[in-house]
Amino acid sequence: MSPAEVRTHTALHVVKGAVVKVLGENAKWTASTHVKGNRGVLTVRFYRKPSLAEITEIERLANGKVREDVPINVYELPRAEAEKRFGKEMYDIFPIPPEVSTLKVVVIEDWNVNACNKEHTKTTGEIGRIKIRKARFRRSRELLEISFDVEVED
Ligand SMILES: [Zn+2]
Repeated sequence: MSPAEVRTHTALHVVKGAVVKVLGENAKWTASTHVKGNRGVLTVRFYRKPSLAEITEIERLANGKVREDVPINVYELPRAEAEKRFGKEMYDIFPIPPEVSTLKVVVIEDWNVNACNKEHTKTTGEIGRIKIRKARFRRSRELLEISFDVEVED
């Protein structure tokens, strides 16, 4: 991943935390993620179209977490131990293959816990400003796609 993509990927974790804060536990399952350059897409399972106010609040909370500049902790541990410590909620909808016995778990305290072996920034402050471009709800599939850009301030 390029440095921009490391920031954009890390932003997925921050946006996801904000999504669950605003939309609740119903939005806690990630269906897919996509990163290209400074553009990211987070897709979660959800049952309704969010309001504009909710989307604005997700963006506000995500940028608040960036400004807090909190550490992004990565723990590498045996899978069984990780499940005991963090629970099944660290997983996304698509399962990690059963033969994977060691997990990396990314933890942003009180915000997001996710089994993820990609590269991350050390703190949320390194991400830059997060700008939500659009939110698209696909009713037939009960999926909410949130597209965003990450803008690095000079
Ligand atoms: Zn990650």
